[in-house]
Formats: sequence, structure tokens, C-alpha cells
Amino acid sequence: MSLKAPEQKSGHLVMPGERLGVIEEFIPDSGTYVKDGVIYSKIIGRALVDLPSKHVSVYSLINAAKVPKVATTVIGQVGNAQSDNVLVRILQIDSEKLSGVFSGILHISDVAESYVTSMNDVCKTGDILRARVISEKNQIYHLSTTDKNLGVLYGFCSQCGTLLEAKRHEMKCPKCGKVETRKTAPDYGKATI
Ligand SMILES: [Zn+2]
Repeated sequence: MSLKAPEQKSGHLVMPGERLGVIEEFIPDSGTYVKDGVIYSKIIGRALVDLPSKHVSVYSLINAAKVPKVATTVIGQVGNAQSDNVLVRILQIDSEKLSGVFSGILHISDVAESYVTSMNDVCKTGDILRARVISEKNQIYHLSTTDKNLGVLYGFCSQCGTLLEAKRHEMKCPKCGKVETRKTAPDYGKATI
């Protein structure tokens, strides 16, 4: 994945009218305005840049921004899936809603203690999972599901979209009968989100 570095480092304090980037490269979100193709901050706050989704927003200092940090546990939905990594749209930190758009990357080497051959056996696009933030290197949240309590919370049949039922060693679709594999969390199908 090639990602262009933003003009403002995520988390940096910005002033109203401060330049954040251009619309060819970033998507303006809350706390910003656009003039002549340039994205500026509307308020005094912290610039939040989500590189994978390209969203840039500014959050006020008065309402402390809820952003992912290393060692926090997050809930997210699997987006674009490759054979060795998946993009995760982060929805919550623990049980709290986020202050902006954040994405994380779950790489195959951070999925489980044991060897995993393909991300296809771990999670699929649309699944909801619980992961831990292990680094923010290059302003990208890197996720891990190696711990026992982490993994897929809700997995959906890749054929018909029905919620898969967790059997002893496999995941089965109650509607079409398709059998799939996931790295599930112990509270699969029961977690409140
Ligand atoms: Zn199905």
C-alpha cells in the first residue's frame, strides 16, 4: 500500500485556517473546510488523519477526542481483504464510539500464535472483530488478534451473508450450509457492540 504522508501529523494542534491538505489526496471531514481545493481547519483543535481511508478531520480541544492508541482494544469491521492482510474500519475503542474515521491493518503475522496460511481462514470482508492496537508506525494503526480474547465476534457467510454459527472446529452457515474458517473470540456471537 502506498500512502502519501499528510501535511499535518495526526494529533497535532492546528489553528483555524491552517492548511491540512488538498482534496486530490484527502477527504475533508468534520472541523474542516475547503477553499480552492485546499482543506483547512475550521477550529482550534487536533488534526486527525486516517491514512488508509484518507479522511482528515479536526477535533476540538474542549471535547477530548477519542482516538485509538497503542494497547487499546478496538472493535472494527473488516474491509478490503488481501491474502496476507486486511483493512479494518475501527468502529469503537472498548465500548466507546470514536471521534472520527480510523482504519487499522491486521497483518497475517499478527493474527495468532500459531502459523496461519491465509487471511481467508481468519476473517472475511464484513466481519466484526476485536483487536488490539500494537503500533502506530507511519501513522497507521497496526492491529493484532493473537490474544485469546481477540478475534472475530460476528462472521458472515461469504455466500449468502447470514451470520455464521460457531461449531466445535468450524463455522457453519445455518441458511446455505457453507462451512468456513475464522479466528474467533471466545464470546463469538454474544458480544454487545
Ligand atoms: Zn450462507
